[in-house]
Amino acid sequence: MANEKLTEHFWLNELLVSSTADRLGIKNTPTDAHLANMKKHLAPGLEKVREICGNRPVTVTSAYRNPKINKLVGGTPTSAHPQGLAADIRISGLSAFKTARLIADAMADRRIRIDQLILEGGRNVVHVSFDPKARMMRGSQPGGPGTFIDWDFFD
Ligand SMILES: [Zn+2]
Repeated sequence: MANEKLTEHFWLNELLVSSTADRLGIKNTPTDAHLANMKKHLAPGLEKVREICGNRPVTVTSAYRNPKINKLVGGTPTSAHPQGLAADIRISGLSAFKTARLIADAMADRRIRIDQLILEGGRNVVHVSFDPKARMMRGSQPGGPGTFIDWDFFD
């Protein structure tokens, strides 16, 4: 699949990175519908996150996972990652906690529309997803994927 600039600072290839796909030599190719989600919701949402975090560079550690890869990493099919609506990120010069705090405050002020913000302290990443139909939730998941999420953490 050809690389493509989706927004000012985000390229399609950044949203398709997958260490599992690389390791197993399979391609993380999105369906048309999932690609449309990345163009319409994920990349514009990440631009907004970048702005909220002081226009610092955003590193995407994992975003889209096609159904095959999602199965291999043990993800649930209803997760936002296999739909092209979520990304796990790090921001240059900011801790995961500080990043999540800035985004959580922006959510509270309605400066950004995110349905799930999760501080994954154990992996030092922040999960953000942009499902336009879901309600906004903010939490911390220190134990990693599949473990307890404290949804009152930022209140
Ligand atoms: Zn995630």
